[in-house]
Amino acid sequence: MTSPGERNATYAPLGLLAELTHRCPLGCPYCSNPVALEPRKGELDTATWARVFREAAALGVLQVHLSGGEPGARRDLVDIVAAARAAGLYGNLITSGVGITEASLGKLADAGLDHVQISIQDSIPASADVIAGYTGAFARKNALAHGVVRLGLPLTVNVVVHRANIERVGAMVELALELGASRVEIAHVQYYGWALANRAILMPEREQVARAAAEVEELRQRHHGRIVIDAVVPDYYARYPKPCVGGWGRRSLNVTPSGKVLPCHAAETIPGLTFWNVTEHALGDIWQNSPAFRAFRGTNWMPEPCASCARRDIDFGGCRCQAFALTGDATATDPVCHLSPRHAELATLAAERSEAAYTYRRMPAGREAEVETPA
Ligand code: SF4
Ligand code: SF4
Repeated sequence: MTSPGERNATYAPLGLLAELTHRCPLGCPYCSNPVALEPRKGELDTATWARVFREAAALGVLQVHLSGGEPGARRDLVDIVAAARAAGLYGNLITSGVGITEASLGKLADAGLDHVQISIQDSIPASADVIAGYTGAFARKNALAHGVVRLGLPLTVNVVVHRANIERVGAMVELALELGASRVEIAHVQYYGWALANRAILMPEREQVARAAAEVEELRQRHHGRIVIDAVVPDYYARYPKPCVGGWGRRSLNVTPSGKVLPCHAAETIPGLTFWNVTEHALGDIWQNSPAFRAFRGTNWMPEPCASCARRDIDFGGCRCQAFALTGDATATDPVCHLSPRHAELATLAAERSEAAYTYRRMPAGREAEVETPA
């Protein structure tokens, strides 16, 4: 019998993030994909994804988020959606809106797709296209969003907020309403990977963040009953850290295009962790026993001040990837927490500013052909 504080304590995952491919025609400078994008030739085939979905359902997973890159780059996406449905999972497609047409969306709906999430980069088309690094992205996203609603599928609009668009949070919520979304998720950039490389360009001012937070509250009241507004607070200006992924190895898992299973999408930024692969292990074995999942599961790994803190089962010491990115030690208290001995350094980092051009998320030179011409 194990206590919840132990690293091999048993938790049941609820959600599976299936990164079907890292190919994407867009180049968002805050993309959550790793800087070392996985190549097309190593991607899992349809049958393996179908097995992963069955094993996930047996573990207790209820929802699969079909993500990327751009999942529309997979020619077998209809079969993958059908496999998720056959496994009994609620299938949520997370798409850039570029790479899926209304016709292909109809096939996905027929195959059993339950829900669609489309990201928008800004309410001003020209700015949205600059942020996405793709001319015409705004128009295609809008067209697909209308197609989702016409098909009767529920639509969530994702908005990632940063210095270039933070003054238009209200306009982006209005746009989500116009598109017919039932939910809008407003998330400030999380600074790992690509976003870390662009931090000085993307970081808003503290006053902008405060104004945006107040505006979100006002929008919630004004649009109550019309649209659900979820908001994620920006880390660098917070007092307490977020409970990242609901606690390491507690509620969710992430399968990369080549089959590596991660406790969170950024876990590969932490050196020294060993990730087991679905081509070599059953998902249940990985969830229970893989070294990466056990590394920070529970609370026994925690140093002070987390170890004796009353919030340790609320925020789980914050984000391991952020702790490593900011301190070089993945076991450290997340510096976002005001109780961390490194907290004061965040203000200095948040004050760094650059007006340079974005470093866009792109395949490395010589592999550009892996980004397919969108449908
Ligand atoms: S580049 Fe943009 S659209 Fe493509 S996967 Fe990354 S965040 Fe999503
Ligand atoms: S000390 Fe650790 S557990 Fe306590 S609030 Fe800060 S990050 Fe959370």
